[in-house]
Amino acid sequence: MKTFIDKNLVRIIAFGPFIFIPFVVILISSLVVYQNQRQYKYSINDLESSYIKTQKSLTIARVDSAIKLVEYQHSITEKMLQAKVKSRVDSAYLIAKNIYEQNKNFHSPKEIQKMITDSLRPLIWNGGESFIFILDFNGVFYLAPSYLKYLEGESILNFQDATGRYVIREEIALAKRSGSGYLWDTFTRPKYNPKTQFKQLAYIKNFGAFNWYIGSAEYLDTTTKEIEKSTLEVMNNSTVSDSEYFFVLDQGGNFIASGKNPDLVGKNILTLKDIDSKKFIQEFLNSANSNHPYWITYKWKNPASQRIELKYTHVKRVPHSTWIIGSGFYMEACNKIIAVKKKELYQANQQQLRNIISLSAIILLISVIISSMISKMIQRRFAKYSKMIKGKNNELIALNLGLEDTIKERTTQLNEAYKKMEKIAVTDTLTNIYNRYYFNDALQNEIHRAARYNSFFSLLMFDIDHFKMVNDTYGHDVGDQVLVTVVTLAASCLRESDIFARVGGEEFMIILPQTSLNFAIEIGERIRRTIDDYTFNTIGHTTISLGLVVYEANETFERILKRVDMALYEAKNNGRNQLAIGMDMNHD
Ligand code: GH3
Ligand code: MG
Ligand code: MG
Repeated sequence: MKTFIDKNLVRIIAFGPFIFIPFVVILISSLVVYQNQRQYKYSINDLESSYIKTQKSLTIARVDSAIKLVEYQHSITEKMLQAKVKSRVDSAYLIAKNIYEQNKNFHSPKEIQKMITDSLRPLIWNGGESFIFILDFNGVFYLAPSYLKYLEGESILNFQDATGRYVIREEIALAKRSGSGYLWDTFTRPKYNPKTQFKQLAYIKNFGAFNWYIGSAEYLDTTTKEIEKSTLEVMNNSTVSDSEYFFVLDQGGNFIASGKNPDLVGKNILTLKDIDSKKFIQEFLNSANSNHPYWITYKWKNPASQRIELKYTHVKRVPHSTWIIGSGFYMEACNKIIAVKKKELYQANQQQLRNIISLSAIILLISVIISSMISKMIQRRFAKYSKMIKGKNNELIALNLGLEDTIKERTTQLNEAYKKMEKIAVTDTLTNIYNRYYFNDALQNEIHRAARYNSFFSLLMFDIDHFKMVNDTYGHDVGDQVLVTVVTLAASCLRESDIFARVGGEEFMIILPQTSLNFAIEIGERIRRTIDDYTFNTIGHTTISLGLVVYEANETFERILKRVDMALYEAKNNGRNQLAIGMDMNHD
């Protein structure tokens, strides 16, 4: 049992690590792989949404930057306008001044005035929309644009613009007061209804002669359009890819500009539909005017792939303008990029997996080597201790065996001593037969046995005749020798089962188990004859007298003893050297 456990323990120490360590390493590796795969799947799932998210924020940023550009351009419109009109007026002023200075002493004022107006009349811009005009402080038109030439020589002092302002009077006041300055007003326009007035910026300058002032103006929308045109050019040139272009429309659904759909420019596209009949332009307007702009999806041709694709578009209104700027991205390009990213992710993940597996293998190898070293060391120690314990164990076994032998020996000795003591206790020292003590016990037992088993026995008692005389004549020692010899002679007549005891100085009892009267008489007589026939070296002859009784049913110890004693007494009385049979008292 013990060695079985030891062997199992050694086995566990020896092979346990080879099972346990790989188990732990594989378990940990599996956990890492599991976590890694989860992360990978999450990344894949996240890819599309995060890509769309990125594209959306890029698009929003793109539109916002375009709007900032437009706002900036608007902010510089007035300055550009001012610079333009001032430079025109300054040039015209220099020309006029030059003519005046060179001719003032040689020609009449009227001639000079004609020379000036003739030379300035060709200075027109924007197809005649802008021109140089000259008036005097009474509001008389000296140089008028061709479409108003009929007004030359007349005073337009009381001309009112669309808001009811007397703009000519304001110009005159400005020229008198400051010499030059700007003025916003509204004015008619060539090729347009004369009742329609357009906002314009004028610059006027006091000529310093003839009470003249020279001016020029430009319509705001002319400059605005110019600026918008350049803005659109900048926007179109700034797009990074063919599919990420800008477009501009106004609140009425008029398509103003586009990087990629030039055929639509100038048209009202409010009812434009995509191939699924989706009217997305209305959604552009809704989103642009909403407090919560949203993404409009529809199918449109991707200039990059020349195919109809799903497009996400973001639109935003330009503040203080009717413009709505939009831009978007196409999903197919997005899908292509996602596919590429997915592949990249997959490859990265595969590489990670390979790394994890090889790392695990290395850890496994190292830990198996270390643990095998440790388990070998433990095994060696274990073997050493086990050997030591075995040695000690053998010593103990030997010690135990020795102890057992000693105990056996001692027990035997004790038993022998006890037997000896027992024998001494029941033996008469002189004759070496049972003593009175033993006899009493034996007689009691025999009585019990006879009572219990309804068996029978006989009891003989004998006494040496005139022994006192022997002692007196030959001495006590010779008497003792005679006693010993008488016993030896009597014992030779007895069977193994008979109990022979010395109960007094020269008185003896013999229990004869299972012995009938006749047989007992025979034994008694044999003893008597043997002694009678024997010749002693010392005393010559001696005799004995015997009493004999047979046990009677339910007889007591005392009674049978008394009866045998009486029988012996009778034998002595009748002349000695004879056997007397005790009375059967029941038959008295
Ligand atoms: P009888 O029995 O024939 O009537 O005569 P007796 O002389 O034998 O009388 P009794 O039996 O009364 O005698 C006993 C004597 O036995 C007394 C004593 O001297 C002797 N005697 C008793 N015990 C011993 C003993 O151990 N050794 C010796 N040598 N003599 C003993
Ligand atoms: Mg006697
Ligand atoms: Mg006697």
